[in-house]
Amino acid sequence: MDNYKKIIEEIYLDVKNVDDIGKVANYIPELAHIDENNFGVHLTSINKLSFGFGDCNKKFSIQSVSKILSLTLAYKFEGAKLWDRVDVEPSGNPFNSLLQLEADFGKPRNPFINAGAIVICDVLVSHLKNPKKDFLEFCREISDNKNINYNEKVAESEKISGFRNVALCNFIKSFGNIKNDVDDVLDFYFHICSIEMTCKELSEIFLFLADEQYINKKGESILTESQAKRINAIMLTCGFYDESGEFAFRVGLPGKSGVGGGIVAIHPDEYCITVWSPKLNKKGNSYKGMLFLEKFTTKTVSSIF
Ligand code: GLU
Repeated sequence: MDNYKKIIEEIYLDVKNVDDIGKVANYIPELAHIDENNFGVHLTSINKLSFGFGDCNKKFSIQSVSKILSLTLAYKFEGAKLWDRVDVEPSGNPFNSLLQLEADFGKPRNPFINAGAIVICDVLVSHLKNPKKDFLEFCREISDNKNINYNEKVAESEKISGFRNVALCNFIKSFGNIKNDVDDVLDFYFHICSIEMTCKELSEIFLFLADEQYINKKGESILTESQAKRINAIMLTCGFYDESGEFAFRVGLPGKSGVGGGIVAIHPDEYCITVWSPKLNKKGNSYKGMLFLEKFTTKTVSSIF
């Protein structure tokens, strides 16, 4: 990995100048205010290599990238029972789709589409005494980073415009797969999506999925090896909405994107890399983020395939 820094810098400069055909997400009004020229990248390896370029130390709305963290905590609580509530199949449909829920009797296809993430939030609301506070505490403990916070403006903005998510939550509840009060579950969901982190912080917090020996400052491991393997597998097959196949095809790493323009990708046993560029392609994934990672795994020959 000695040459990774130089390769990342070269690709960063190359992709920075590419004409970006994407558009910043504006269906959550607060997200539309972001400077669309932000572009950052950061890599952290399991043997403590750490470097970044561009806007890698600016906080941004991690949106659906947070769904890896909520899934991790729910999996810790429930173990394999979790898969009775949510499946592990790619949906092949947009992230906010209601389509398959009726045929699947309210069991979402996977924990990364909105329907699945809302069920995961319901599981956490059942387990946590004070869900918003306890979840933030969990995120801070994993990476020993007290600087992780919700953005209340973004959460509020999503609350007043999130009609789709309200519909999803109610529809799933009609099948009995939401156990708590719909408003409590949605309030928690909107908050976890509003978490803000930098590329550097993200590439550090997800090291537990790259490093099977990972322990936090308190000496605790986060997941068992088998659980980490399974979360990586779901990231690979379901992490990019209805473009998950395309990401595996072009980049070849487990990953997860968010409509804030962030992408986290894991190379098991090696590194975690994060890219942020807010303009999204038609499927809701960062245009430059995907392009950067495609060039990166090609030049470093580090796709897992
Ligand atoms: N909070 C966003 C929503 O529910 C998350 C979408 C995403 O990043 O995939 O629409």
